[in-house]
Amino acid sequence: AAAAPPRGELHIFRSKLPDIDIPDHMTLPEYCMERASQWPEKAAIVDGNSGKVLTFGELDLLSRRVAAGLVTLGVEKGGVIAVLLPNGAEFVTVFLGAAIRGAIVTTANPFYTAAELQKQIRVANASMVVTQSSYVEKLRSLQDDSSIQIMTVDKHVDGCLHISVLVEADESRCPVVDIHPEDVVCLPFSSGTTGLPKGVMLTHKSLLSSVSQQVDGQIPNFYITSHDSVMCVLPMYHIYSLNSIMLCGLRVGATLVTMAKFDLPLMLELIQKYKVTVLPAVPPIVLAMAKNPIVPSYELSSVRMVMSGAAPLGKELEDAFRARLPQAIIGQGYGMTEAGPVLAMCLAFAKAPFPVKSGSCGTVVRNSEVKIVDNETGLSLTYNQPGEICIRGPQIMKGYLNNPEATAHTVDKDGWLHTGDIAFIDEDEEMFIVDRVKEIIKVKGFQVPPAELEALLISHEGILDAAVVPRKDEASGEVPVAFIVQSPGFHLSEEEVKTFISKQVVFYKKLHAVHFIDKIPTTPSGKILRKELRNKVSLPFQN
Ligand code: AMP
Repeated sequence: AAAAPPRGELHIFRSKLPDIDIPDHMTLPEYCMERASQWPEKAAIVDGNSGKVLTFGELDLLSRRVAAGLVTLGVEKGGVIAVLLPNGAEFVTVFLGAAIRGAIVTTANPFYTAAELQKQIRVANASMVVTQSSYVEKLRSLQDDSSIQIMTVDKHVDGCLHISVLVEADESRCPVVDIHPEDVVCLPFSSGTTGLPKGVMLTHKSLLSSVSQQVDGQIPNFYITSHDSVMCVLPMYHIYSLNSIMLCGLRVGATLVTMAKFDLPLMLELIQKYKVTVLPAVPPIVLAMAKNPIVPSYELSSVRMVMSGAAPLGKELEDAFRARLPQAIIGQGYGMTEAGPVLAMCLAFAKAPFPVKSGSCGTVVRNSEVKIVDNETGLSLTYNQPGEICIRGPQIMKGYLNNPEATAHTVDKDGWLHTGDIAFIDEDEEMFIVDRVKEIIKVKGFQVPPAELEALLISHEGILDAAVVPRKDEASGEVPVAFIVQSPGFHLSEEEVKTFISKQVVFYKKLHAVHFIDKIPTTPSGKILRKELRNKVSLPFQN
């Protein structure tokens, strides 16, 4: 390891692998499909639920048709399309087609309530929503958004467009669009280090760079190839799956086996049937694989690599998994939507694998710089000293949509993205996350922004003040719990408060407990003392 610089000097951490030449002359879809003509007959997507197969040749054709169809429908360059779909061929085709058109895709969880969807669609200024027929009624209940065109991908619905107008369009009319690397292509929503969800502007350059950092070069860090079958059970609307599974898989020519939702027996059956080799997961899936008694009755020897990300994976669980599937390399990736999203990746996944330690979330990706900052002194730290992870590189977001203030709060003037995660890096350049100083709660890897639940809580006339914090949970990692100050004269029950929230939010944002207190503890400037509340409900954060 390099000698530690004196305290106070800027210490930059980098990948142990050499930097690579990241293509700078291609759009994201050109880059991802660059080699597709080498394997036109190969399955790009196998729909694990229906068994339907889409080849790379078909995907290439359909995505160009989608781009042509979008022009006919009046979707301009820079126009925003909301994609509310489960994993499957339509998601990929629409994403690529929109990207070829120069349009922007905003992704969201189809299970969101109408109110949650409305907020995102409005902030993103989407003109079209592509979805399944079963969600049309929910979308129609959105007030004041009647100008939005709804397109279904399955059944025809009166008053809605149908995907056939895109996939049957004339590919010879596929537009040639002048796309700049800094043009936005994807707009996922994230609350970042504080506040409400915001649109994260990921450009062609950001996503292309992030994919390239993972899978390109002489010694790829995330070594997957056209011989791999990759399980795609994590939702593509989250950037982890969209980037590290969908885009990386397309780039290398792997086959994606998609599932509409997590279902352990079906997932195991599909791994067995399609000889899945790579399993990107989140800690609850690793837990199920390590502990569920049905797992040993499946033939899973094809699995050679398991990546866990989106939330902390404990060392013990990693070891328990290893004991059960000894032939598979298990390791972590560490991502954050705003970072494009991959900051660090396990080097045991590299083409020339390095030995790694349990509990590490990886080593910083190539063509990037990481520094660890002491938040109290602002000093940059060296080996084995925990501080806030900051990253700089071509993959990070352009900023938050229409929110320069939040952007400036997250990306400083020198280009460092401040993650709100606390980690140290050891002498082997391995990163270990030990705490989180941002508000976000991660339930099964999903984001639950406390500010969103707090705003809903104080909209209740019986609630004067509220704060929401995470509580540790074995199955979900964390769950949200609320502290409430009641308005004078009100005597709400815990159940009443829980029901009030659960009616308005997607299932994983539901409150697991409500504590009634006299005053929410705050700093003199009025900031909620979250750590104090967090300590009241659980043991201190442990990785
Ligand atoms: P998201 O933007 O939804 O991907 O959430 C990003 C956040 O998830 C990060 O800032 C971390 O707090 C957490 N996270 C992601 N990957 C890991 C990991 N491997 N270990 C611990 N926390 C993680």
